[in-house]
Amino acid sequence: MTKIGIDPGHGGSDPGAVAAGELQEKDVTLAVGLDLRHRLQGAGLEVIMSRTEDVDVSLADRAQLFNREQVGLVVSLHVNSAASTTANYVSTFILAPGGQAEKIANAIQPELVAATGWPDGGVREANFYILRQTDAPAVLVEMGFISNPATASLLATIATRQTLARAIYKGLAVYLGLPPDVPMLPTDIQGNWAEAAIRRVIAAGIMSGYPDGSFRPDQPATRAELAAALDRILDKLK
Ligand SMILES: [Zn+2]
Repeated sequence: MTKIGIDPGHGGSDPGAVAAGELQEKDVTLAVGLDLRHRLQGAGLEVIMSRTEDVDVSLADRAQLFNREQVGLVVSLHVNSAASTTANYVSTFILAPGGQAEKIANAIQPELVAATGWPDGGVREANFYILRQTDAPAVLVEMGFISNPATASLLATIATRQTLARAIYKGLAVYLGLPPDVPMLPTDIQGNWAEAAIRRVIAAGIMSGYPDGSFRPDQPATRAELAAALDRILDKLK
């Protein structure tokens, strides 16, 4: 099983880049990171997060965590910023070409461009700390420009954050040979006595969560819903 390192940039006292409004890079990177974790876990991967809350984590601690956990690859999440409000593209950074990181970046970048419709900033090289100091192949995604008002208003929405997470997942799926899309695991099943069973029936396509991302595990099923679920099992038995 591949272990994936996800690094939501900035956090705590470090907001990262800030939009003219109140949108802060650290909130976008965390939301996309948590969503991406969800998808990767849904595909059966183990995920190591450099942070799961709005807290300070030094670059050195981030790299050390990933190295200690011996993750197979690292995805660092950031949002770009420029003096110009018209700068507008999505890009994926690597330390240097020719390795696995370039393959990962080449898998993620087209998915990001296709999903967002933002101009293709391509795969670029940069001597970023997290790319340099992690033992595993690492890529750093700059998810558009927070300094661009139109992009910033999109980055403030859950829909765009989900779009970004899904695109990065798809790119990783291409690289790792995983299913191209996984059903989102509901958030309200964690810790439920039947969590493992719920995960299995969702993965098997026998039951699904609600569109709002919940499963409502304690809600009673109607006889019609039960019949529909059993019918899907009958289909599978054929
Ligand atoms: Zn950043």
